[in-house]
Amino acid sequence: MPEHHDSDPTDTCRIVDANGTPIRVHGTGDLDDTDRAMLGEIVAAAQRRHEQEQEQQPVTVEQAARTCPRPGCGRRKAAGHYLCTGCWWRLPRHARLALSRKDERAVRRLADLLDQIRMGVPLHKVRVQP
Ligand SMILES: [Zn+2]
Repeated sequence: MPEHHDSDPTDTCRIVDANGTPIRVHGTGDLDDTDRAMLGEIVAAAQRRHEQEQEQQPVTVEQAARTCPRPGCGRRKAAGHYLCTGCWWRLPRHARLALSRKDERAVRRLADLLDQIRMGVPLHKVRVQP
């Protein structure tokens, strides 16, 4: 008869307290002070990273600037591009040509494009002023 794995002393899982944060630890034997300090460092680093991420949350303008504006797309787009590559190539050729021109009406064309995208105009039906 094989023994139960429950009684296997090499496969234990314990909760260890590291600087007030419980950590699940696999293995045998007690942690010495060095192990405990190392775990504390890992936890502290993870908490710092988490806090930094929370602080960065308000900077959604940056993220929005890097996300395709078409509702439901959500793909990343390159900086300075109006749409992600996939959506861009679904625009009619005349729209792409017009939008590629950088003149005094470029901002107006972009606004036209974004308005239509927000209203749900299919990409291949988008009309942009020349
Ligand atoms: Zn897209």
